[in-house]
Amino acid sequence: MIFQGKTVIVTGATSGIGAATASAFAGEGARLMLTGRNAERAELTRKKAEAAGVGAATLIGDIRDPDFCERLVVATTERFGRLDILVNNAGVIHCETVDETTDDQWRETMAVNLDAVFFMSRAVLRRMKPQGEGIIINVASDAGVVGVPKMAAYCASKGAVVLLTKAMALDHARDGIRINAVCPNVIDTPMLDDVFRQNDMEAEAGRRVFASENPLDMVAAPKDVADAIIYLASDKARFITGTAFMIDGGFTAG
Ligand code: NAD
Repeated sequence: MIFQGKTVIVTGATSGIGAATASAFAGEGARLMLTGRNAERAELTRKKAEAAGVGAATLIGDIRDPDFCERLVVATTERFGRLDILVNNAGVIHCETVDETTDDQWRETMAVNLDAVFFMSRAVLRRMKPQGEGIIINVASDAGVVGVPKMAAYCASKGAVVLLTKAMALDHARDGIRINAVCPNVIDTPMLDDVFRQNDMEAEAGRRVFASENPLDMVAAPKDVADAIIYLASDKARFITGTAFMIDGGFTAG
């Protein structure tokens, strides 16, 4: 129960990596503010957290809206009295080259994957600074560290998240705030199914192709990312800030 008494916001907590991260924090005693777009799925994640014996609340909304981000942070501090950890996890993907990408696809990718990280981080940093402590973890991607074919907007957004992470880590280390990014490769979530759909790939064949692209030959589970987030948020990682922590089966090692 290493996060007992701590409060965590998880964005995109209604599915995939976000839901697994929420469960992992609940298992370690943290109180949770969960957000995403789907009220029913958010309620499921909240109930699981409460079954683990922790306080949990949901606020449904669009993370692209800076006013919603501010409301989310206010609701968290009003409900739980403090705010210790932010996991910026919500994300979208469009599998296109630049010449194929529409204005709307580009804007949606930047708005969810990058702008929301900025809005949420700004809102929580204004609370964490006076506390003199805090943790932010951004879910970036291996596609934020190396280029990946047919993911141009996604790569641009995640690369920006990696450097925003490093810049914020430098700015706020002396405020007692550690800020890191995790960079997963291929994780079994609804987003991966979406990638298969966008590429006209049958799911099983798609899994085999994507797994074969990393040296460990695996499609990993959402929990593999959640475990790394738990580690980075814990005191065991007290000397780690500004890192892009690869969870990629060696994809970017060569
Ligand atoms: P997912 O589709 O299961 O989850 C995405 C979450 O983001 C959902 O909860 C969704 O509601 C939320 N979201 C999207 N747009 C939103 C908006 N406008 N407002 C509020 N919430 C919004 O996918 P996932 O794979 O669990 O993705 C989680 C994160 O992991 C994303 O940032 C993604 O880019 C990253 N990632 C995933 C993989 C993978 O292989 N699945 C690999 C690398 C990085």
